[in-house]
Amino acid sequence: MELLEQKIRQEGRVKGQGILKVDSFLNHQLDVALFDEMGKAFAKRFAGEGVNKILTIETSGIAIATCTARYFDYCPVVFGKKYVSLNLDQEIYSSDVYSYTKQQAYKIMVSKKYLRPTDRILIIDDFLANGKAAEALIDLINQAGATLVGVGIAIEKGFQDGGALIRQQGIVLESLAIIDGMSEDEGIVFRDQSG
Ligand code: 5GP
Repeated sequence: MELLEQKIRQEGRVKGQGILKVDSFLNHQLDVALFDEMGKAFAKRFAGEGVNKILTIETSGIAIATCTARYFDYCPVVFGKKYVSLNLDQEIYSSDVYSYTKQQAYKIMVSKKYLRPTDRILIIDDFLANGKAAEALIDLINQAGATLVGVGIAIEKGFQDGGALIRQQGIVLESLAIIDGMSEDEGIVFRDQSG
């Protein structure tokens, strides 16, 4: 997606250990007009698949998922919670995630009443790196006996394993921008997805 690539080129900062900082539009301050365009792009790529629910993970996935839901007939967005609170039901599905950016493991949880066997679910997230967050979300969908329609990612880091891991399972994965290489000196190389 040209608009997203442009924004990454202009405002993205490459950090050590293969981390891209996009705080100015995606992870801290949010560019709502861009998110709306991303939502439209996901809707185009997953049109006609009967998506009736979007699943994401807190925190950064929520806003993108919400903008995307507008283009799927305002379907509900459910997010995996990372923190236990009194608000969370007793009846939950949970799965373990290892966070690459935080270098630690955590659990994500979803109340059983928000994932149903009749649901056709699109997973949306901000980044795909090693695929751990996406795998945990897929696991929650499987536990619920729901149908996974596909996975939509804003920025896939193609030089890490997540993309291959998910595509190998026959799951439809659509990433709006795929970065095949990046360094502080040479900048960011995007995969050409036009063909
Ligand atoms: P994975 O589970 O695929 O290894 O990592 C996905 C999660 O890690 C994303 O939801 C995102 O929060 C975070 N993440 C991974 N790589 C990056 C990165 O380069 N930049 C930012 N901002 N977040 C990242």
